[in-house]
Amino acid sequence: MKHQQTPLISPAPGTQRVVDSFHFGDPSLGKKAYLQSSLHADELPGMYVLYKLKQSLKLLEQQHRLRGEIVLVPVANPIGQNQHLMDVHLGRYELENGTNFNRGYLDTYCQVKKRIAPKLSLDAEENKHSVRSAIKAELEDWPVKNEFESLQQALQLLSHDADIMLDLHCDFEAALHLYSTEYSWPKIEPLARLMGSEINMLADETGGNPFDSSIDMVWKRLKDDFGESIPDGCCAATVELRGQLDVSDDYADQDVQAILGYLQLNGFISGKAPTLPVIEAPSCELTCVETLSTKQGGLLVLKVEPGQWIQAGQVFAEVIDPISDKVEQVIATQAGRVYSRSNRRMATAGMLVGNVAGSTPIRSGYLLAP
Ligand SMILES: [Zn+2]
Repeated sequence: MKHQQTPLISPAPGTQRVVDSFHFGDPSLGKKAYLQSSLHADELPGMYVLYKLKQSLKLLEQQHRLRGEIVLVPVANPIGQNQHLMDVHLGRYELENGTNFNRGYLDTYCQVKKRIAPKLSLDAEENKHSVRSAIKAELEDWPVKNEFESLQQALQLLSHDADIMLDLHCDFEAALHLYSTEYSWPKIEPLARLMGSEINMLADETGGNPFDSSIDMVWKRLKDDFGESIPDGCCAATVELRGQLDVSDDYADQDVQAILGYLQLNGFISGKAPTLPVIEAPSCELTCVETLSTKQGGLLVLKVEPGQWIQAGQVFAEVIDPISDKVEQVIATQAGRVYSRSNRRMATAGMLVGNVAGSTPIRSGYLLAP
């Protein structure tokens, strides 16, 4: 294992943060898996998973069983790890300017296309190399000007040449679920199957430039432009490891086994790969998700559980104003599976209280949460 530290821009004298990455296996073997956790810094189940995965990989490396490079970044957001206000960890938005830590990653597609167009050949392997070099050059040329941008640049540089890229998050209170692109899904589906993820939401274009699609969508669009001479260079997913409080040995052990199995299926670890569960993991378009919000502020009483199937017209929550005695019912308009709900119990007007994955496209445009 190699421990690497990438320094970020120092925001003020006397402060300096780094991104710690742990590199296993041999990079010259030509395949790379990249896993990071807690980009939203207060989403910690993934950090426990990567801590445990690190111990397993140390052992596998000693046993000479690694057949590719595996990079782990268990603390993907050291800035957010130090954002505590009056005993509350605030890890989703950077306090400096309110930016969501998982938005605004550099989209290198247009510049990469310009760089590689004159040198493309019929050799897909050669083109893979050219695309990766071009992505790297674009990222290195990014004139980052503050600590947060230097974090984004560091994470993208660490992952730009990965064949598999997994970003481990969690929701407020939730069932295990995955987000991926239509493009990556065929290669991510076995992971969903091994993890037992029954709610998997796909979109090639979400808006907002989140981390997870910052590399695979470059490959997808280049393939649309140039055809089969562009190989499938990266598959990526955001894995939502249930809710914020779901840091436990049982969950983490189960998730580590699934990820190790997936890495083995993809040839990163020698030995007999696990047998995939027979039933294929279901998926739906991200446009089929109903996001439910309140119209009034009040005491939030949730009526459904994460993972529960609900019917159209079912009450998701009640919001009670104990002064006027006005009770608002938040009602799902389509049938589907509740995959997450708020962990706040005082709702403010307009607040998102939960999400239901349905089967009919009901949204378009910007598809991500704030
Ligand atoms: Zn997150």
